[in-house]
Amino acid sequence: MAPSTRLTAERLLQLTRTILTAGGSGDAEAGLVADHLVQANLAGHDSHGVGMLPAYVRHLAAGLVVPNTTAKLVKDEGPILMFDGGRGYGRCVGGEAIAAGIARCAGTGVAVVTLANAHHVGRVGAYGELAAAAGLVSLHFVNVTDHRGLVAPFAGSDARFSTNPVCIALPGTDRQPPLLLDMATSAIAMGKVRVAKNEGKLVPEGILIDPDGRPTRDPGIMYGEPHGALRAFGGHKGYGLALVTELLAGALSGGPTIQPGNPRLGGIVNNMFSILVDPARLAGVDWLRREIDGFLEHVKASPPADPSTPVLVPGDPERRAREERQRSGIAIDATTLEEILQAGEQVGVARAAAQALLA
Ligand code: NAD
Repeated sequence: MAPSTRLTAERLLQLTRTILTAGGSGDAEAGLVADHLVQANLAGHDSHGVGMLPAYVRHLAAGLVVPNTTAKLVKDEGPILMFDGGRGYGRCVGGEAIAAGIARCAGTGVAVVTLANAHHVGRVGAYGELAAAAGLVSLHFVNVTDHRGLVAPFAGSDARFSTNPVCIALPGTDRQPPLLLDMATSAIAMGKVRVAKNEGKLVPEGILIDPDGRPTRDPGIMYGEPHGALRAFGGHKGYGLALVTELLAGALSGGPTIQPGNPRLGGIVNNMFSILVDPARLAGVDWLRREIDGFLEHVKASPPADPSTPVLVPGDPERRAREERQRSGIAIDATTLEEILQAGEQVGVARAAAQALLA
């Protein structure tokens, strides 16, 4: 296994912000994107943390992410807001689109927000958190395109679409924190395959197939040619969810699906279809809170089948990771750190200067 270094969130944030600024981002954008990446590490999702920086820098060099781009409103019709992200950093254009949806909900009680052609929006849970903090319930469907497929259809043997994440978030109550279901529809996120490869680990059984459709645990199978594929989570049901997510996100937004008739330039394009709902306009906030408290307490009271593995609800693992990593730091394996330092050099951040920020 590759050795790793433990770094504080603050140090990682400084280095990430410096690399993004050197890549052409203004201060606010560099700060927001850097924070988004480090927050993903803190939440335990290293797949969507600072390990994405080398890909971001590659995309910068190829013009596949455009710094300092704001989301362009292309349709504004009652509860409907459509945005084009113009290949801007996903956290920035995604945040703008969701903020507009939150504001619209104040008048209409519901907002349907689409975002086409964003660069990588990262951890989708961040957008669910924005809506939940405003007291809204939200659903987010995201497809991933501009590169080859990564996930095989159920009963198929090669990759035809990507890891299409889904997030559903409900606001918290006095007794329960916000409920945040935030997941790739692949058996694991592609970034987790990258993390396993960089750490020299095998992935669990049932996640990957080789180019002949046979099961494999080798994460390297996704990086050579011919390459393998991830499986969708949950057999035919997860596959079905991945499929409709592709169409909701890619087709309704006007952004592309991954079908071969659309361009693939080798970057990452995310399209997002979101629905935001004000619970006050439905059965009411008091009723929602009563049912969240009663139901989640009922579920969590199930005696653990294994005493060392408590019953959790979505969002709990990320909260636990955040507490632990704020305390003891974020482990970055040597391969990932080297890739980040090289990415810094590519945008003019000298290795010694980068290392000084981490010291
Ligand atoms: P995961 O499998 O670690 O977690 C998925 C969900 O299950 C989370 O809501 C989590 O809270 C919940 N969960 C985990 N363990 C649990 C337990 N024991 N009990 C109850 N709930 C539990 O996440 P993932 O599928 O690997 O996705 C990781 C991240 O990748 C997500 O933030 C997702 O948005 C992001 N992602 C982004 C893209 C993109 O293109 N932008 C693509 C794919 C995934």
